[in-house]
Amino acid sequence: MDDFRNKLARFMYGRYGTDQLNTALLVMYFLLLIINVFTRLIIIDILMWSVFIWTVFRTFSRNIYKRQKENRIFLNYWNPVKSEILLSARRLREIQTHRFRRCPQCKTVLRLPRRTGKHLVRCPRCQNRFHVRIII
Ligand SMILES: [Zn+2]
Repeated sequence: MDDFRNKLARFMYGRYGTDQLNTALLVMYFLLLIINVFTRLIIIDILMWSVFIWTVFRTFSRNIYKRQKENRIFLNYWNPVKSEILLSARRLREIQTHRFRRCPQCKTVLRLPRRTGKHLVRCPRCQNRFHVRIII
């Protein structure tokens, strides 16, 4: 087992490995796989294999700088989407106790206790004061 591990480590030496973009590509591959089970379209097949080949290519690539650059570009798009998803999940989780409002000046999301009525709120980031109405 150790011998296999050493061989694998030697093989992967100087190669890129995996990153967030590769994980996203694998998720995309499995989604396409599921879609393909129901639709059986040739275009989905081609897309699926392209994604898979690209993922394998990226994993074993020796051009680490270029793969990191691709990952950075991907993260520039993915991180805002991810934080919106996490915020929405948190809003749902805390719907009984808190309300979330965006500061009109710096766009920071404020987590406010659920108290109905109109309140004057101070943003902790930019110190801007603004009115918030919590209806329910
Ligand atoms: Zn603010």
